[in-house]
Amino acid sequence: MSRGAEVIVAGAGALGLSLALALADAGCRVTVCDPADEPQASAVAAGMLAPVFEAVLDPGSAGDLDLWLAARNLWPALAARTGIEIDRSGAAAVGSPAWLATVRSGLTLLGLRGAELPRNLLDDLAPGLAPGFQGLLVREDWRLQPRPALAALRRAATAAGVGFRAERVKAPGGSDFLVVATGADPGLAGALPLLGALTPIKGQILRFADLRCGPLSLRGEGAYAVPAGEGLAVGATMEPGLADTTVDPSALAPLWKAAERMLPGIANAAFVASAGVRATTADGLPRVGFSATPGVILAVGARRNGWLLAPLVARIVTACITGRDPGSYAQRLDPARFERTP
Ligand SMILES: Cc1cc2nc3c(=O)[nH]c(=O)nc-3n(C[C@H](O)[C@H](O)[C@H](O)COP(=O)(O)OP(=O)(O)OC[C@H]3O[C@@H](n4cnc5c(N)ncnc54)[C@H](O)[C@@H]3O)c2cc1C
Repeated sequence: MSRGAEVIVAGAGALGLSLALALADAGCRVTVCDPADEPQASAVAAGMLAPVFEAVLDPGSAGDLDLWLAARNLWPALAARTGIEIDRSGAAAVGSPAWLATVRSGLTLLGLRGAELPRNLLDDLAPGLAPGFQGLLVREDWRLQPRPALAALRRAATAAGVGFRAERVKAPGGSDFLVVATGADPGLAGALPLLGALTPIKGQILRFADLRCGPLSLRGEGAYAVPAGEGLAVGATMEPGLADTTVDPSALAPLWKAAERMLPGIANAAFVASAGVRATTADGLPRVGFSATPGVILAVGARRNGWLLAPLVARIVTACITGRDPGSYAQRLDPARFERTP
């Protein structure tokens, strides 16, 4: 059913824009509503598309490697469609020999291997890295620049006929379908109680305009450092339960220390800190698909991998509305999975 369906998308973040474009490409008449000038979480993000190191380094994510890879594999097509630039230089875990041994074991458990980087090569690829640190390279993890990517998605969506309205959606109604891609914002929870079950996780990130760390994303113990435009982004805190975007130096201190251990040169460098709020579900995977409210589809709870997951979420939402096969991951992300009795 529903070729040509009228769809309102609430939220113009990575998820809302990606799925709006996919819906327009599938023949739907799409309007994206968002009162904000810029989607906080999607804009401040580091932009890593990191199936491997997320599975290894994010506690509890090892079982989701297949899903992360499936999402990552959809990126080349979305990049070609929108002009988003994907950097495929790769990512390196960097740290003490003892910490790298744990990373190596994590990779082995997943049936993966990293390439050992000799120190002279590491000095070229990661200038400024702490003496004594070793590195393990993974080519499967990619990266994009969030702000240019948001602009490219918006341009492509506009060209595909998507309309934009600078307003907040207050309740379902007024279209065949409402897709809720409102990130961590609980504003629609009154009308859609499932949104109340999302937990916010504040994330603070530091940007150094005058520092470089080479072409790779560096994944260290307690911090990552990724090329960001002409500079460097260092992130990120995970502060569950907090939904504000104020910069809090006390919460930043451990991140700063971990980053300084990795790249001692940051000690005296000027930086700007910012914060965004991710939303998570109990199992760390988003709720994507039909909600209990007729005509309302959820695309929320992408936690720390919203950019990575965006094209997969777009595919599932589009399948819901057009009646196509949503693919094998739809069941895993089904919004009703927590309420189902085993
Ligand atoms: C510091 C940090 C670093 C991160 N790094 C990465 C990374 O490297 N890789 C990665 O994949 N992910 C990363 N993430 C996570 C990623 O940013 C999020 O998962 C993703 O941005 C979520 O996108 P979204 O579209 O769901 O939400 P958002 O980007 O939060 O957008 C939601 C939008 O909905 C709008 N909205 C809210 N309520 C309404 C309403 N009622 N009506 C209309 N509009 C509404 C808001 O104004 C907002 O613009 C990071 C996050 C943070 C905070």
